[in-house]
Amino acid sequence: MSFTSTLFIIAALLGPFNLNSDWIDRPNQVPVLSTAAPEVTPLVVLTRAEGRVVVEVRLAASGEVISARSTEGHWVLRKQAELAALRWRFAASSEVDRVVYLRFDFKILPADASDEAVAPLFTLPYDLTVKYRLPKRPGRAEYSLSGQETDQRCAVHQEYLKRDIVNITYGLTFLSPEAIPANESFPNAKSFVSGECVIEYRGYESGAKELVSPEFAEVLYCQACRDAQKRWLSAHPLKSPTKR
Ligand SMILES: [Zn+2]
Repeated sequence: MSFTSTLFIIAALLGPFNLNSDWIDRPNQVPVLSTAAPEVTPLVVLTRAEGRVVVEVRLAASGEVISARSTEGHWVLRKQAELAALRWRFAASSEVDRVVYLRFDFKILPADASDEAVAPLFTLPYDLTVKYRLPKRPGRAEYSLSGQETDQRCAVHQEYLKRDIVNITYGLTFLSPEAIPANESFPNAKSFVSGECVIEYRGYESGAKELVSPEFAEVLYCQACRDAQKRWLSAHPLKSPTKR
C-alpha cells in the first residue's frame, strides 16, 4: 500500500512535465496531471478478477473529476476502478462537459513476482495497468499438527492415533504385488495421501499459473504403523515403474 502510494506521489509530481512534452502531440486529448491506482482489495484477490475496466469520467473546468462511471469490466473491479478514477487530475480548461474514458487493465502475476513487476504502469493517454500477485500457498510448516493425540486407536497396534499434515501425491501410485498384503500390517501409516487424480493448474492471461489442487491433507496416523512401514520399505526397495 505504502509502496504504491509513494509511486503515485511521484507520478503526481512528474505530471506537469508530461503536460509539456508528451501531450504536445495530442492536441485533442485532455492531459492527465496525476493518476491513482485502484485498490486491490481482498475480494479482488479472492475472486482472481482480471481484465479491462473502462470508466467514463466527467471533468470540471478545474480538471477535477466530477463523476466516474464504469461502462464495462468485471463487477468486482468496477467499484475500485471508479473510486480510483475520482482521484485522477486533468489539465484545467475553459471548456465545459469534458468527458474522458479511462482504461484500467488488471493483471494477475505469479506469487513470486517482484515488487517492480507489480508496480502500476501508466501509459498515454488514459491507460493504467494494475497488477497483483497470486497469494502464496501456505507451507506445510505453518500447518504442523504432528503429535496431537486423539482418542482413536490403531486396530493393529492399539496405539492412540495422532494428527499430522501430509503431502497429497497426485497421479497413479504403483504398488508391487507384495506391498498390498504388507499394507495390512501398517494400515495407519498415512505417510502420504493419494490425490488419485491429475494435478490441476489454473492459468491467467499474464501467463501466471496457480496450483488449484490441494497440496496437503490432515490425517490420523499410528506411530507404530509408520515404524513398521519404514522397516518394510527398507527391506523392499521400491521398484516403481515411475522411477528411472
Ligand atoms: Zn498401528
